[in-house]
Amino acid sequence: MNQPILAIVVPCYNEEETLPRTIRQLHDLVVRMIREKTICSKSKILFVDDGSTDETWTLIHKESLQNDHVRGLKLARNVGHQNALLAGLFTAKKVSDCVLSIDADLQDDISVIPEFIQKFNEGHEIVYGVRKRRDTDTFFKRKTAETFYKMMKKMGVDLIYNHADFRLMSRRAIQELERFDEVNLFLRGIVPLIGFQSAEVYYERKKRMAGETKYPLKKMLAFAFDGISSFSVTPIRFVLLIGLVSFFVSVLFGTYFLLLKMTGHTQTGWTSLITSIWLIGGLQLIAIGLIGEYIGKIYKETKRRPKYIVDFDPFMFHPSGKTADKEEYSLASGKLTETN
Ligand code: UDP
Ligand code: MG
Repeated sequence: MNQPILAIVVPCYNEEETLPRTIRQLHDLVVRMIREKTICSKSKILFVDDGSTDETWTLIHKESLQNDHVRGLKLARNVGHQNALLAGLFTAKKVSDCVLSIDADLQDDISVIPEFIQKFNEGHEIVYGVRKRRDTDTFFKRKTAETFYKMMKKMGVDLIYNHADFRLMSRRAIQELERFDEVNLFLRGIVPLIGFQSAEVYYERKKRMAGETKYPLKKMLAFAFDGISSFSVTPIRFVLLIGLVSFFVSVLFGTYFLLLKMTGHTQTGWTSLITSIWLIGGLQLIAIGLIGEYIGKIYKETKRRPKYIVDFDPFMFHPSGKTADKEEYSLASGKLTETN
């Protein structure tokens, strides 16, 4: 049987501290898998530089010049993890049969990668890496993540529990993914929607070795909220519900106050009045804000701006001539290069 060409996509944002180690470990793994005939010798590791401001790109580029299994894709500016990942997937699928994505800090256990290939060979088009336990995370991160999955589930978004972006997709699955051309893309929610036959691989997640997390609390919350609002209208319905409830409550109170007035107990407090004004005001602001969030999403979608801009694609022809391998270029562009 033919071995599949594997491409490993690694989004990197200011990862100069972890990169040398990551490159070495992934390279060793790829070489070993080629030797063991698990994957084809044309397999590559594609590092995506997501507009880093440190030495990340220099490291990647240097390595790609001397290492035939390493390639670098440079984005013109920082577009965030999800978009950087997409850029990598869409680029890598041009030169491979299946693409595996993994974070640059290698918190995900790379020793299970052969299992992904095995599942792929068995005919699974999408293979999810699923964490067995979460005890390397801080208590806080574990709890917030747990709440997030539960909330998403309640809102009708089916996520794979404890699966992040450690996954393998066949070329065909990525081609289908490309047809989801929404701008607000939440990969974890969309990939299961593709619907091809899938499998799971279990592993233990480690601590980040070097550098710091690129997902501080603020980004994590934004990410969670993005995930929710680009997949579900439940929050808007919830607001509507609160609105209805408070409307009925105020009708009840109104009648009660009216009765009090009619029976002569007119000294009904200023307190209740002012509280309800604040309450209703607050509710209205929340509602408007939430609706605004959705309108913002619609606004972004209608503009159809590109999700990322590529600065340097290792598989494309560059006028300077200092890049693409001829064979890779013809593979990527789907045509044969003239022999001259
Ligand atoms: N990343 C990226 N662009 C960004 C932020 C992060 O490409 O704007 C990459 C980062 O280099 C890493 C991955 O996304 O490879 C996940 O980030 P991190 O490990 O910091 O997240 P955590 O594991 O803490 O959730
Ligand atoms: Mg990480």
